[in-house]
Amino acid sequence: MKIGIFYKKENPEIIGLIKSEASKYNFIFDNDNPDVVFSIGGDGTFLKSVHKYINSLDKIVFIGINAGTLGFFYDFTKENISEIFETISSNNFKYEERPLLGASVKYKKSVEEIYAINEIRIENPFHTLTADVFVNNELLEPYCGNGLIVSSNLGSSGYNKSLGGALIDHDLVALELTEVASIQNKAYRSLNSPLVLSPNKIIEFKNVQSDSIVGYDHLSIHKSDELLEVKIGYSNKKVKILYSKEHNYVQRIRKSFVL
Ligand code: NAP
Ligand code: MN
Repeated sequence: MKIGIFYKKENPEIIGLIKSEASKYNFIFDNDNPDVVFSIGGDGTFLKSVHKYINSLDKIVFIGINAGTLGFFYDFTKENISEIFETISSNNFKYEERPLLGASVKYKKSVEEIYAINEIRIENPFHTLTADVFVNNELLEPYCGNGLIVSSNLGSSGYNKSLGGALIDHDLVALELTEVASIQNKAYRSLNSPLVLSPNKIIEFKNVQSDSIVGYDHLSIHKSDELLEVKIGYSNKKVKILYSKEHNYVQRIRKSFVL
C-alpha cells in the first residue's frame, strides 16, 4: 500500500505516528501516486487535499486526522492512527463515496470545467451582480445581489450555513441554492430563502453580469474574459472517505456548532 500525507501546518507528532505504523506494515510513502492520503488539519485542509488529487480520486481513499478543532470531514485523531492502519491493512476495507459538484463555466472566449466538494458560486463583493437562475431549463428567478451559491450536502455546514442555509446530512445527497444579500424591491424580486433540490437537478446562472468572480471551495477563477453562464450539478467524480465506526452526524453538528 502506498501512503500520501497532506497538511497545511506540519504536525511532527502525527506524522511520526503515521510513519512508525506504516513501517510495521511495510507500507511505502508515495505522495505522487498514493492509495490512501492522510489529510492532517481541518475541513479547509481536506478541501485542499482532495483538489490536489482531483484527477485521480477513483484510486485514493482519504483519511482525515484532526489536528485542531473537530471538522466535518475529520473523524479521526492521533489516538486512532494504529486502529486506522489495522483497518486499511485488511484487503477490502469499507469507505464512503461522496459525489463532487461540477460546473461548466462559460466565458465569451473559453469554457472552464470545475469540481467542488463544498460549493460553487458567483460573487461580486463590490457591486451588485445580476443573473437569471434556471433550474432544469426553467426560469426560477431573476437575481440581483452579491452572490449565488450552490452547495452540496457536504458543504452545507460551510459558507451555506453562514448564509442561513440548512445543514444537510452527509448521507442525503442534495443541492442547496442560497443567495448573498439579495435585493428585494420593486425592480428586483427573488426567492430570498434557501432552496434544497434533488441531486439530479441542473442549476444555471445565465446572463451573468460580466465582472462576477466564480468561486469553488477555496479556489476561484479570475479572468478578463466576459463571464456568460455557469451550469452546476453533481459530477461523475466521487471522493472516497474513510469514516470511523463511531461516525455520527448529529454529534458532529453538536460538537462543531452547539457546544
Ligand atoms: P478556510 O479558512 O479553510 O475555511 C473557512 C472556514 O470554513 C473554516 O473555519 C473551515 O473549517 C470551514 N469549513 C470549510 N468547509 C467546511 C465544511 N464543509 N463544513 C464546515 N465547515 C467548513 O478558507 P478557504 O480555504 O477559503 O475554504 C473555503 C471554504 O470556506 C469554502 O468552501 C466555504 O465553504 C468556506 N467559506 C465560508 C465563508 C463564510 O462562512 N462566510 C466565506 C467564504 C468561504 P476549518 O477551520 O476546519 O478548516
Ligand atoms: Mn482552514
